[in-house]
Amino acid sequence: KESLDKGLAKTKESVLKKLTRAVVGKTRVDDDVLDELEEVLITSDVGVDTTLKIIERIEGRVAKDKFLSTSELNDILREEIAQLLAENRSGDVSQFELPKSEHPYVIMVVGVNGVGKTTTIGKLANKFKQAGKKVVLGAADTFRAAAIDQLVVWADRVDVPIVKQSMGSDPASVAFDTLESAKRQGADVVIIDTAGRLHNKVNLMSELTKVKRVMQKIVPDAPNEVLLVLDGSTGQNAFEQAKQFTKATEVSALAITKLDGTAKGGVVIGVSDQFSIPVKYIGIGEGIDDLQVFDRDEFVDSLFK
Ligand code: GDP
Repeated sequence: KESLDKGLAKTKESVLKKLTRAVVGKTRVDDDVLDELEEVLITSDVGVDTTLKIIERIEGRVAKDKFLSTSELNDILREEIAQLLAENRSGDVSQFELPKSEHPYVIMVVGVNGVGKTTTIGKLANKFKQAGKKVVLGAADTFRAAAIDQLVVWADRVDVPIVKQSMGSDPASVAFDTLESAKRQGADVVIIDTAGRLHNKVNLMSELTKVKRVMQKIVPDAPNEVLLVLDGSTGQNAFEQAKQFTKATEVSALAITKLDGTAKGGVVIGVSDQFSIPVKYIGIGEGIDDLQVFDRDEFVDSLFK
């Protein structure tokens, strides 16, 4: 909680500053205050659709209670945002845990280069290892040599096995080898990196589809999770990437990185709402321990308390 507060400090400072400015001289929540609030949410990267949804709900409360005081606005926002996050199941899982299964749990990780995909995989591997799970990594981003090298660095650091081939090899073949090796070793969880090329959507889609199909030869219900990694500091770009990736494959969970050092933490609320995908993990620093399972109550508390 402490590191979360620290990680979200910039977003909180910015949101609270804007909120305070929005209600200055006002005692009641009226149309002006709601207009200002709309502006606050949009400039906090919550996104237009989600902002309007939140405003509508608060309007509903104002309609019921005409004398709703601006001093309550903080609490009301906190409640409505927590509610919104609950509706898209963000924060439903509270620990680095895996369902019991005879097969390894397969996480396929997608996202464009630079968002923190490799780092997130390394941090995740570390958390699962700490939780006593046997982890195997698969370097199926074969498009860039650096991607394979960086994942190897993380595998060494966390001390977990990694399956790789040379650059340019077939990602599906790497994924197949990884699952085969994981099954042989009795691994609990497999984390597969994939190439983050968005400029060619058809390629991306066919590549991810093939990776999935080939993995299912070994683990019938693979991937158990398709984790989209988004850089929380990129604001609207994160929305655009979510749009592209959800078109290319079935994304089941979000990891939002780099929430430290940004005032754009509103992305967490907007992206999960707009695409109805739960936020499962958040990155709040570059260190190996700076990945948390997303907790919606702690999140809203960190922003509004
Ligand atoms: P990839 O290209 O998507 O695999 O990105 P990397 O994992 O290589 O990360 C790109 C940069 O972002 C690196 O310098 C990471 O240390 C940094 N990074 C990743 N996650 C976070 C985070 O949660 N917070 C901060 N501040 N930096 C991060």
